[in-house]
Amino acid sequence: MSKMTVIVPCFNEEEALPVYYHEMQKIMDQMEELQRVRVELLLVDDGSSDHTLYIMKKLNQKDDRCQYLSFSRNFGKEAAIYAGLHYASGEYVAVMDVDLQDPPKLLPKMYQILQEEDYDSVATKRCTRAGEPKIRSFLSESFYKFINKISKTEIVNGARDYRLMKRKMVDAVLEMSEYNRFSKGIFEWVGFRTKWLEFENIERSKGETKWSLGKLFSYSLEGITGFSVAPLSLASIVGVLFCLLSFIMILVIVGQTLAFGNPVAGWPSLVCIIFLVSGIQLLCTGIVGQYLSKTYLETKRRPIFILKDSSQEVKGRTHEAVEI
Ligand code: UDP
Ligand code: MG
Repeated sequence: MSKMTVIVPCFNEEEALPVYYHEMQKIMDQMEELQRVRVELLLVDDGSSDHTLYIMKKLNQKDDRCQYLSFSRNFGKEAAIYAGLHYASGEYVAVMDVDLQDPPKLLPKMYQILQEEDYDSVATKRCTRAGEPKIRSFLSESFYKFINKISKTEIVNGARDYRLMKRKMVDAVLEMSEYNRFSKGIFEWVGFRTKWLEFENIERSKGETKWSLGKLFSYSLEGITGFSVAPLSLASIVGVLFCLLSFIMILVIVGQTLAFGNPVAGWPSLVCIIFLVSGIQLLCTGIVGQYLSKTYLETKRRPIFILKDSSQEVKGRTHEAVEI
C-alpha cells in the first residue's frame, strides 16, 4: 500500500480543526479502501494561542493517522508548509487548508490523476472569487497581472496552495530552503508537469481568515521581490528617460533665450520638478531597500521554523534536523 501525507497548516483553528477531521476521516477511509493508499494527516500548529494543539494531541491519541508538529511561535503559513514537507514521509504529499476551503473530496481524484496520467503534481485554482470583498479581488487581480509581467516564473491567478505532489517534486521544493518563502512561485519554479483543476470559491467553514489587507500586501511584496528583479532596473530606466528629457529641455531653453531674451520666471515649475525627481529617487532607493532587506534576512540564515513539540511518530523520523 502506498502512503500519502496531507500537510495541514493550522493557526488558531480550534473551531475548524474538528470539522476538518470529521470530513477528512471519510475521505481517508474511502481512499484506503478503494485506492489502496494510506493517508496520514500532518497537522502543523503554527504557534496557536488557543486550543489547537490540544485538539491535535487528542486526535493523535484517537487516530494514529493524525500526526502533528508544533512551532514555538507563529512563523506563518509558508513556514508551516515547509516544515510539513520536511517531515512528510509519504510518497505522495498534499498541502491543504484546514478551513475546508480546499475541498477534501477532490483528493481522491487528484490521486487518481497522478496514478493514471503522466503528471508529477496536481494543483488547484479557484475559477471564481465569489464571496470575497470587491476591493480584495481587485487588488489580487492587479497583483497577478503585475507580477506576471515582470517575472519569468508564471504565478497562476487564483492558484491555491492545495496540491498533491509526488516525492521527487517534494524533494525539489525542499532544496529551496530560502527564508523569504512564496510557495506559489516556488512550486512553479521547480518545474515538473502539473495538472490544474478548477473549483468554485467556497466560504470558510469555521473561524476567521488570518489574512488582513496589510498581510496580503507584504505577501505580494514577497512574491515580487522573490521572483523578479525587474523593479531594480526601474532606477536606470527612469534615469535614462530623465536624462533625455533634460537634454531636450536644455535645447528648448537655450533656443528660447536666444530668441526672446531671458525673463526670470518658472519658479513654480522648478519646485514641481524638484518634487517629482526627488520622489522618483526616493522610490528607487526604497525598491533597492526592499531587496536589500530580503538579502539581509537571507544572509542571516535563521531557521525557517522552530519546533516546540511533535507527535512521537514524527519525532522518530530520520530526516536531518532542519538545515538552513
Ligand atoms: N495559517 C497558518 N499560519 C498563519 C496564517 C494562516 O498556518 O500565520 C493557516 C490557517 O490556519 C489555514 C490556512 O493557513 O489553514 C489558510 O488561512 P486562511 O484561511 O486564514 O487564509 P485564506 O483562506 O483566507 O486565504
Ligand atoms: Mg481560508
